Amino acid sequence: MGTYNVHGGHNRIVPGAGHYLDEVTEDRRITAGVIALLQASGHTAYNCTDDVGKTVGANLANIVAKCNTHSADLDISIHQNAAKVDSGDGKTKGVEVFVYSTSSKAYAAAGRVCAKLAALGFTNRGVK
Ligand SMILES: [Zn+2]
Repeated sequence: MGTYNVHGGHNRIVPGAGHYLDEVTEDRRITAGVIALLQASGHTAYNCTDDVGKTVGANLANIVAKCNTHSADLDISIHQNAAKVDSGDGKTKGVEVFVYSTSSKAYAAAGRVCAKLAALGFTNRGVK
C-alpha cells in the first residue's frame, strides 16, 4: 500500500482558472474523490490543500509544508485549465500531467493517469 499527498491547487484568495469552471471548487471536489478512492483501496492519503495562503507564493509554501510533514510515495496536485475557445484541434482541451523529473517514479504513474483519462475521451496531451 502506498502513501499519497493530494491537494487542490490555489484557494479562494489566489484562485486559478475561472472561465468555464471554477478551478478552486472543482479541484477540491476531485481531490476529495481521489483521496476517497485511494483510502477505499487501502492506501494512506493526506489532503494537503491550503485555503489560507494570501499570495501565490504563500499558497505554494503552505502546500509544501503540509506535504513535507508526511513521507509520501507521491505528491499529487490537482488542477484544471480553462480555454475560452475549443477550436476542436485537440490542443486546447485534454489531460496532461507534469512531473518533476522524467526519471522519477512519478513518471510512470503520470503516464497511467493520462492513459486512463484519455480512455474516457479526453485528448491525451501527455506527460511533461
Ligand atoms: Zn491550477
